Amino acid sequence: MQVVHTERMSGLRSILFDMDGVIVDSMRQHAECWIRVFGEYGVALSTEDIYLREGMSGIASIIDIFRTKGERIPSPGEMKILQEKKLEIFERYPVTIFPGVEGILEFLSKKGIVLGLVTGSLRRSVRYVLQENIRKRFASIITVDDIVNGKPNPEPYLKALEEVGFRNEEVLVIENAPLGIISAKAAGLRCFALETTLEAARLTDADRVFSSHKELDTYLRNEL
Ligand SMILES: [Mg+2]
Repeated sequence: MQVVHTERMSGLRSILFDMDGVIVDSMRQHAECWIRVFGEYGVALSTEDIYLREGMSGIASIIDIFRTKGERIPSPGEMKILQEKKLEIFERYPVTIFPGVEGILEFLSKKGIVLGLVTGSLRRSVRYVLQENIRKRFASIITVDDIVNGKPNPEPYLKALEEVGFRNEEVLVIENAPLGIISAKAAGLRCFALETTLEAARLTDADRVFSSHKELDTYLRNEL
């Protein structure tokens, strides 16, 4: 019989990190860009509209926003232009990794934990926001370019799981977005969440919620 570790970290072999809002402090910038671009199409958005859709691919969130708030669904060509505009603006914003993240990654690497990155962003955006010395810490990087069905579908996490090559119960996910948590749980993985963008009340599907990277760091150092 396989033992499922719901709380203790013994047996942990790999951690799969979401990128935006977990590794990099980028969600405010993403939200500002989307709000600007959608404004040009007459659609008013709040920051929370973006945070609650985080994890979806760019195109999936464009469709979902127009379905919910727009008067019509744009053509695929228009949506591509809208996404491209957003990327152009985003790539002029400075984005940094959260304080404490490098320390966490270094600690986990020293412990022999295999690290993966699973993001709803494009591979192009991963290269933009993460310097090579951080990217190379991840044995597996799954972007929206590598999958068919993005979060909340389990496909991104299942693909990462296959790449790292461990059993479900040996792998932990760290997320910050409700749809990312749904994706991880649907892949049969334990999932912790960080309150970087949304409060704990929005992250109730996670197995554990941390208010800060520091709190997560302390927990991992105590448990591993
Ligand atoms: Mg995220």
